[in-house]
Amino acid sequence: VTKGKNYLLGIDLGGTNIKIGIVNKKGVCVAKKSIPFGGDKTPSQTITRIVDAVMELIAEKQLSRKLFIGCGIGTPSPIDAKRTKVVNAVNLPGWVNVPIKSDLEKKLGMPVVLENDANVAAYGEKWVGVGKKFHSLVLYTLGTGIGGGIVIDDKLWIGAFGGGAEIGHMIIDINGNVCGCGNKGCIEAEASATAVVREFKKEIASGGNSSLSGKECITAKDICDAAKRGDVVAKRVVSRIAVYLATSIVSIVHIIEPEIVVLSGGLAEAGDILLGPVQQEAKKRIFTPARAKCKIVKGKLGKDAGVIGAAGWALYLLTKNFTE
Ligand SMILES: [Zn+2]
Repeated sequence: VTKGKNYLLGIDLGGTNIKIGIVNKKGVCVAKKSIPFGGDKTPSQTITRIVDAVMELIAEKQLSRKLFIGCGIGTPSPIDAKRTKVVNAVNLPGWVNVPIKSDLEKKLGMPVVLENDANVAAYGEKWVGVGKKFHSLVLYTLGTGIGGGIVIDDKLWIGAFGGGAEIGHMIIDINGNVCGCGNKGCIEAEASATAVVREFKKEIASGGNSSLSGKECITAKDICDAAKRGDVVAKRVVSRIAVYLATSIVSIVHIIEPEIVVLSGGLAEAGDILLGPVQQEAKKRIFTPARAKCKIVKGKLGKDAGVIGAAGWALYLLTKNFTE
């Protein structure tokens, strides 16, 4: 079925940008482009713009649609159990029950695999990233929110009803901060980039003296950078986040016992200032033998994890029943 076809399309639909890539069967992204999401556009206008951008990219690379096995798309939203629709995307205004799979299939003329963005990022890191050698992996995407993905036996675990692997909503403090989902103390409410900024502002409001005091529009990156420079308040905030993240990792390692836990997303880019204490805290509490064996590392694919993972997951689902 896929004879002579060597490429996949990977699409990562984000609230700010839509990333599109042409990925070969080895997981190498050979061409990519990014277009603004355009919050003022309707879903169908956005889908048309995605298709236009895809066609341009294919033409630029002088390829033909016939060379494509299919397309994978990751969206920051719940998806129906059959993987055909974006159900209700909080970060994509107006995206309620959008049948994106069939719309894209019609317009692209190839099969489309729809999956949650963090799930495909997990698959990407497993396919050709830091998890390449392993069969089980848990991934956290640390950004404005926290997403999660779980790979078990080389395959994504999406749950019995399609809504699983929402690691960001693992509750780690029943009296904690209110999460966007309505529950209290989800790891997303305690350790996302948003939480870093909130905790930092609390520290300043209660008299903490930081090199960032008085600065407007402080980002999580500013705070991590300040912590690296030795800013005491920023360091305290980063340590707090690290303890929460480690707590969540300890729980998931005890439940699933993956070979590797991957931290990706903007906040993971802070590097050792966050990763170091997370590893230290987690290793203190994880049971043996996982304590020594389970790796906790930063992802390798960076901002391309979603595009590559969407393509890889499409390759997996579209070819698993066929031999070439
Ligand atoms: Zn939550």
